[in-house]
Amino acid sequence: MIKFGSKTVLLVTSILMAVIVISIVSSYVMFREVSNLQFKHEKIEKIAFMRQYEYELMRTANAFSETFPTSLLEGSRKTFDKWFNVLWSRSQTMDKGVVGKDIKKTGFDYKNLQLKMRVINQKIYNNSQFSLDDMLVVRDMFLALTTDLHFYQQKRQYLYRQIEFTKKHKIYNYYYISFILSSLTLLFGFFVCVFLYRSHKKLLGMRSKLERKVEIRTKALKRKNLELVNEVKERTRAEKKLVESQSQIEVAKEKALLRLNFDPLTQLASRSLFTERFNQAILDAKRENKPVALLFLDLDRFKYVNDTLGHSLGDNLLQQTADRISLALRQSDTASRFGGDEFAILLCEVTSSKQIEQVLQRLLDRLSSPYMLENHQTFISASIGVAMYPEDGDSVEVLLRKADNAMYKAKEKGRNTFQFFTHQMEIDANNRMLMEGALHQATIKQEFEVHYQPIIDLISGEVKAAEALIRWPQKNQQYIPPNDFIPLAEELGIVVEIGAWVLERACQEAVKWQAITDKDIQVNVNLSYRQFQNNDMPATVYQILQRSGLAPTLLTLEITEGLLIVEDKFIMQQLQKIKDLGVTLAIDDFGTGYSSLSYLKKFPIDTLKIDGSFIKDISIDKNDEELVKGIISLANALDLKVVAEGVETKQQADFLSDNQCQLMQGYLFSKPLTDIHFINFLEKYGCFKKIA
Ligand code: C2E
Ligand code: MG
Ligand code: MG
Repeated sequence: MIKFGSKTVLLVTSILMAVIVISIVSSYVMFREVSNLQFKHEKIEKIAFMRQYEYELMRTANAFSETFPTSLLEGSRKTFDKWFNVLWSRSQTMDKGVVGKDIKKTGFDYKNLQLKMRVINQKIYNNSQFSLDDMLVVRDMFLALTTDLHFYQQKRQYLYRQIEFTKKHKIYNYYYISFILSSLTLLFGFFVCVFLYRSHKKLLGMRSKLERKVEIRTKALKRKNLELVNEVKERTRAEKKLVESQSQIEVAKEKALLRLNFDPLTQLASRSLFTERFNQAILDAKRENKPVALLFLDLDRFKYVNDTLGHSLGDNLLQQTADRISLALRQSDTASRFGGDEFAILLCEVTSSKQIEQVLQRLLDRLSSPYMLENHQTFISASIGVAMYPEDGDSVEVLLRKADNAMYKAKEKGRNTFQFFTHQMEIDANNRMLMEGALHQATIKQEFEVHYQPIIDLISGEVKAAEALIRWPQKNQQYIPPNDFIPLAEELGIVVEIGAWVLERACQEAVKWQAITDKDIQVNVNLSYRQFQNNDMPATVYQILQRSGLAPTLLTLEITEGLLIVEDKFIMQQLQKIKDLGVTLAIDDFGTGYSSLSYLKKFPIDTLKIDGSFIKDISIDKNDEELVKGIISLANALDLKVVAEGVETKQQADFLSDNQCQLMQGYLFSKPLTDIHFINFLEKYGCFKKIA
């Protein structure tokens, strides 16, 4: 396999050139040699001339011999001279020229001949008589010359043959070498042709490969070019986007700054801006020796509204609340949302506590007027705590904490009110913390008790039912009433666990009642709204009924109006499922919550329980009397049972029975009793089975 490359081609071409040069040189040498042979041939011609010379010598010698006897005669002296002259001239020039050289080589003693000839010549030209002996010597010398010449001729002939032979041999060699060289040239030329052919073929292959590569490369380049164009387009787009995003960043920065300083939902001041303004206000107040008021405002039952109406309407309510707060304040005041439904307000131009109270009242009034959330008319109130600089502290943290404590107190006072911070509150706040811990422990250890308060049918005088009321016994034999810990349990979420426990205990107890009495005595159990959130209440009720063995018809669950007003589908479904179990539903504290009564038609309610606060004043307050009468007639119209709570006096009982409300619950009949005392009560009340 021939490898290609410029070096290989160069080498092969050089070798070819060398071979051609050798061939030319060898031809030249051959022709030169042939020319030389031609030259030698000329020599041979000279030899031929020598033969002629020899012949003539021989003829002279012969003539001499023939003429010798007569030459001695006068007449023949002329002939002799003639021949002698020829011999003389030839003998004297025989060592000259080319022939002369050759005669020297043959070893002929031409000098002696020449000497003899000169002697004879002298004798002849002196016209002296020369002897016969001289003649004979000359003749012998001529004869010897002839012999030598003959020998010389033979030698020449041999030389000639040798030259001929050498000539033939050399020509043969030249032709041989020439043939070999030509063959080599031909062979090499053939290889070169093969090499060139294969090179050409290879080159063609390489060319097509190269073309293919070029084609692929061109395509790739085109593609790259297209990509480049797209990239440029993309880059242009990206640059545009960058410019856009830069301006967006600017806007975002502004927004972030706004967000830093303002609450995005309500547009009120953020906590950081509030703190900044508070610090400035404190500096001013210090300089001018003035007080500053810090208000901590929390919406009452907002969590309930948020949970039931949904977060979007909850946000809407917060926005409306913020607007109302802003409108109730002066320019110099600052309002801020501290998250959720908590607001902080800074009152700077404070002249007196009366002036602060006016602002507080204005806030409460504006916040408690109805809200329209989509199609829902909603009511919400606020509880406000107030802390003062310099009496309660001089840092935002301390004053906020104290205003927060005061706000809790306002809530405890029954909500929709305000409360200034007092030292007692700090103690209360600490107590609350302690209570949280204790409540968790009590829940885990099931330290609660359930007491039962009878519900009496005044007409028949029978115990129709009993309401289960939770009690938290303390070491001092006292009970913490439910209103003091149930709201906290609701806040902490543990009311779900506590509620289920009460339900189970109450059902177990009611089963006992059925065993010892001859009448069916229902048990009423209070449920918190929290028990309906993220909880499968129907399943819980069903399981407890199953475990206790209580007939569902003997269980009444008391719920508050707040749970129904939302018209939440999930709650509606749960109540319906509970109703489907055979359990009855009662609305507790009826009349205290919401003005809309449309929910009464929509929910599967059986009983209304008139709140004790209306009953309390029926003998003295005409409005309450009318209200109670109204509730009773509403219940009758809707075919609902009605129970009056908090009946303490006979007058109240009479009023109620006169107005077709025969089911009553209150201290007039009995306070809530422990399970044992309640059984005793049943016995005293003649509810036990009659032994025949
Ligand atoms: P409620 O369901 O309206 O219960 C009636 C409350 O009125 C009870 O207060 C009862 O002791 C009191 N009461 C009854 N008759 C009279 C009376 O003639 N005069 C006066 N002044 N009060 C009377 P209690 O036991 O302190 O319960 C307060 C509230 O705590 C209950 O009001 C109920 O809403 C809640 N509660 C009680 N037990 C539970 C419970 O197990 N779970 C839940 N979620 N709440 C409960
Ligand atoms: Mg109740
Ligand atoms: Mg009640």
